[in-house]
Amino acid sequence: MPLNPQRALADLKELRSLTSDDNGAQRIAWTDTWLRARDWYAKKLAELPVEHHYDTAGNNWATLKGESEKCLQIGGHLDSVPNGGWLDGCLDVLAGLEVLRRFASEFNGRPPVTIRLVDWADEEGARFGRSLLGSSAFAGTHSISADRARTDRDGIKLEDALRRCGVEIDRFPEAAHEQKDAAAYLELHIEQGPVLEHLGLPLGVVLGTKGVERHNITFHGQEAHSGSTPMNARRDALAAAAKLALEIRNIAKKHPDAVCTMGSVKTFPGIVTAVVGRCEATLDQRDLDPQILAQMFREAQEASRRFAEEEKCTVEWSRIWNIEPIAFHPHLVALCDESIREVSGKSHKMPSGPLHDAAEVSRAGIPTVMLFVQSLRGISHNKIEDTREDHLELAVTALDRLASKTVSWILSNG
Ligand SMILES: [Zn+2]
Repeated sequence: MPLNPQRALADLKELRSLTSDDNGAQRIAWTDTWLRARDWYAKKLAELPVEHHYDTAGNNWATLKGESEKCLQIGGHLDSVPNGGWLDGCLDVLAGLEVLRRFASEFNGRPPVTIRLVDWADEEGARFGRSLLGSSAFAGTHSISADRARTDRDGIKLEDALRRCGVEIDRFPEAAHEQKDAAAYLELHIEQGPVLEHLGLPLGVVLGTKGVERHNITFHGQEAHSGSTPMNARRDALAAAAKLALEIRNIAKKHPDAVCTMGSVKTFPGIVTAVVGRCEATLDQRDLDPQILAQMFREAQEASRRFAEEEKCTVEWSRIWNIEPIAFHPHLVALCDESIREVSGKSHKMPSGPLHDAAEVSRAGIPTVMLFVQSLRGISHNKIEDTREDHLELAVTALDRLASKTVSWILSNG
């Protein structure tokens, strides 16, 4: 049975009809619809000569035993955001399933190395606000104490929702046992942005996931009457924040892939008849290069102090969250680039702005790479999320090529 990309497409459509409504995909982790998706997937796996189990963090593993214990892992996530698209996460798993089928049939159920397909638990963090939950347990970066008390919109605790699905949060650290013998990890994902579409290319290699600096910035001025306070006597906190909102664009534009966003601005007292005395803004900065990220952070701080001074205000910063950039494995990046060129003629190397499970796997020290397939209109996390069917088929083929090349690489490493 050769690789059949159309079968992966048929699987995707079947899953969509089973787990979507008029508003899109509803496979939110730890809900009945998600469990239904997993049951459906388990039946597909039952047709293959694979061992199937859930680890202690709820990650869903299928293992095709090979001649060597060393294993190639391929992954994705069946969970979606509420009202999500039909491809985000499950394309990765179902393309991986097709690759697994091909290995099982080509090698009579016993490929040269062990092939493992993982459906990560709760990549999206849609219900409890904690993304990459299962893969971070696998990587050993998960902090149980910080997450167990999280609650959803209805006040249900994360701990209790997991228990209902047979997962005990205290046993999360044991999921790291699944790292055993992992020699490489591959993940195919939709791009979720407009870059490949603008370039007219179906596929791209992901160089890594961008690091993030996320901060609260508060400018303090002086509340004053909007009628009686002359323009030159004002200490307008919004004016300082507004200058910064424009300056961060210049700070980002110096670098090809950097982005800076001021996503929230709140003014106090926030009434039509008062000069703004306090302005609270947020800043999100991302780049793949740690030096560029550090430089952008420094430049934004310097600019904020300059604008505060110009407006006779003061400024203070507090960090909300940050994560370092995670670069994927250079040799796997080269193999991925080669696979894409063989399948579709031309490739493109790009960083990922969003985080993915692959970032956690890479942090665990396992050689990792991702490939992206074009997203129409660059839209995701929405029911209009889509990708051309011929591009989806190319993506399955490219993942399969990459898997074969990676197996050869694992074998050549002895
Ligand atoms: Zn995803």
